[in-house]
Amino acid sequence: MPEAAEFRLESEDARPVQAARRVRVLLPLPFPEPFDYGAPAGLDLPPGSYVEVPLGPRRVFGVVWGEGDPAAPGAVPDAKLKPVLRRFDLPPMPEVSRRFVDWVAAYTMTAPGTVLRMAVSVSAALEGPRVLTGYRRAEGDPPDGFKLSPQRRRILDLLADGPPRPAAELAAEAGCTPAVVRAMADAGVLLPVPLRSGPRFAVPDGALPGPVLSPPQAAAAEALRETVAAGAYSATLLDGVTGSGKTEVYFEAVAAALRAGRQVLVLLPEIALSPQALDRFARRFGARPAEWHSDLPPPLRRNTWRAVASGEVRVVVGARSALFLPYPDLGLIVVDEEHEPAFKQEEGVIYHARDMAVARAHLGRIPIVLVSATPSLETLANAEAGRYGRIDLPDRHGGAELPEVTLIDLRRPDAAPPPRHWLSPVLRDALTETLAAGEQAMLFLNRRGYAPLTLCRACGHRLQCPNCTAWLVEHRLSRRLQCHHCGYTARLPDECPQCGAEGSFVACGPGVERVAEEVAELFPDARVAVLTSDTLLGPRAMQEMVDRVKAHEIDLLIGTQVMAKGHHFPLLTLVGVVDADLGLSGGDLRAGERTFQLLHQVAGRAGRESRPGRVFLQTHMPDTPVMRALAAHDRDAFLANEADARRQTEMPPYGRLAALIVSGEDERTVEQAALRLGRAAPHDRPELTVLGPAPAPLAILRGRHRRRLLLRGPKGLALQPIVADWLAAVEVPPGVRVQVDIDPYSFL
Ligand code: ADP
Ligand code: ZN
Repeated sequence: MPEAAEFRLESEDARPVQAARRVRVLLPLPFPEPFDYGAPAGLDLPPGSYVEVPLGPRRVFGVVWGEGDPAAPGAVPDAKLKPVLRRFDLPPMPEVSRRFVDWVAAYTMTAPGTVLRMAVSVSAALEGPRVLTGYRRAEGDPPDGFKLSPQRRRILDLLADGPPRPAAELAAEAGCTPAVVRAMADAGVLLPVPLRSGPRFAVPDGALPGPVLSPPQAAAAEALRETVAAGAYSATLLDGVTGSGKTEVYFEAVAAALRAGRQVLVLLPEIALSPQALDRFARRFGARPAEWHSDLPPPLRRNTWRAVASGEVRVVVGARSALFLPYPDLGLIVVDEEHEPAFKQEEGVIYHARDMAVARAHLGRIPIVLVSATPSLETLANAEAGRYGRIDLPDRHGGAELPEVTLIDLRRPDAAPPPRHWLSPVLRDALTETLAAGEQAMLFLNRRGYAPLTLCRACGHRLQCPNCTAWLVEHRLSRRLQCHHCGYTARLPDECPQCGAEGSFVACGPGVERVAEEVAELFPDARVAVLTSDTLLGPRAMQEMVDRVKAHEIDLLIGTQVMAKGHHFPLLTLVGVVDADLGLSGGDLRAGERTFQLLHQVAGRAGRESRPGRVFLQTHMPDTPVMRALAAHDRDAFLANEADARRQTEMPPYGRLAALIVSGEDERTVEQAALRLGRAAPHDRPELTVLGPAPAPLAILRGRHRRRLLLRGPKGLALQPIVADWLAAVEVPPGVRVQVDIDPYSFL
């Protein structure tokens, strides 16, 4: 029994294995439960300890989840128990973080280990900072007999009066190998010194004064400070138009939490995590917060994770995954732009970061503030029911007027653009006026590329992605066709693969590149920039573009939602929405709500200072509640209408949904599994409705066939146990995957 022998070797005293402590260790793997391991005598393993344990032939990290019980059913006998190999030098994962992992796992119906893997997403961080060796010059001249080659001389020059530097860096600059540096150290010409790895995190100062707040802002700030002082769970919606000072107000709550010595988490949608947002924070608190998102370079990621765990980092501004960092003393959570769909993670563990943040605040008994100019119906329903507090900031700071919003009815012949053009004469005239006045304009179209569909003029064949139920989108700038779902790209073929006609392809419909073409034709002298995720690679490119717009090096911006976010351009007075109806097609439950939120935000870009702004929405549906509400600035009318519709159909937030997505490479097996699930659905319970199975709108995605089922239940009924029973009753064949999406936001 090698395991036991190994265990005895590892433990310091010779007592038999049976006498050792047993701990439950959660591994970052999709097992349903933690496993038992033996705790070698002398190794202190409080709950939350990060440890290394054997798993088959591998060694994996894990977290001590609690005491083991040898009498528990199915427990590994003592004699077979494997030992914890070592404990990492870190403060234990806090109890609240562990309960949060379990809670999220239960809510989303995922294995707790899978959630743990999100919480410890940088396992390299467990090892501690790497200590680098740097080199400096020894005092005095090189010893006799030490030949000063040109490379060696360069290294000595590089170190003349600067700080010690690592061998690799010196070698790279001197044009030699690191061995040359080490040989110089062996000869005593250079001296090795340990280098501290990674920068320290500056400490934000909660005592610095903010701006003088207006009376409504001051009242709002005071109310939030009180929730922080209460030191208990509370959720508060901070609702106010863009520019009303919501950020200044929640900064006051952040300051209060900092003064109380607590940690703070500000969650932002990934796209809003811009250098400006961090700079603004730095101006207010004297130090940049730690940032957390998927693009963080690995060393910084490691350092940040450890500094959060040790409590050194006081404030994290991050995307949704920042919620899972192991804060030892989190005292406040702010979710800015709480309505943003980007808070829903659709892959791996499917969760909504806003909702999980509320749960985290509840578990940690701390306040959470949900901030938005266009709150989600979910949050509004909670505020109406009295579960969340609510603070309104009615006016734009400094009294800036809301822009005038005009609907352009594209159905009217005089408003329709000329054939194969996309800008109505009304919008063209407005652009002309704005540019003539020396002001800036923005055209918004939430569609990358040149054209969303390319077809053969001769036979009607449409170019489709080979892996997905989706058209290929032509990108002229990169001269490629692209699938926006799986990333497949190809060259535009010379001849139609269907009928062989040559040069027969025509572009249908506009993307931003095509609008840019039209603009170039209309305003050849205007300085135009196209802003999409294709043209703006990373936050730095975005920052440069923002600076150029502010410096008035650009007259006209054309872009997708990457430019809808909080940038503040004083000269921008005109916003044109090329296709306001774009988000309304498709059967998405929240299509109207999202369209309102997005277009409201886009409209808010116009006229943010003394110059009044104008917004034009091109639409074929000027009579829909969304368009009418946008034109009348009547958000509440829109929301009331939307809430009524949801209430009548018992849709969220007035009912609950869970989706099952069945997928696999073989269509027949997927179909059969879906039918089997459909038959086993809880049809006998009158309070539940089951829809499907039906082919998903994206019936094929990345080569996998997909079917969907949707379960709807009344508000207040937990769907998880029902789904668990349902799944347990069906045997899913190999090669087929069933994903559960609780509270789905995507219906694709
Ligand atoms: P929101 O978050 O609601 O969009 P912000 O907090 O970003 O609003 O405020 C909009 C702009 O007005 C920002 O530039 C902000 O610094 C400024 N501002 C808001 N309130 C004040 C105030 N009381 N004093 C000075 N500037 C303010
Ligand atoms: Zn594809």
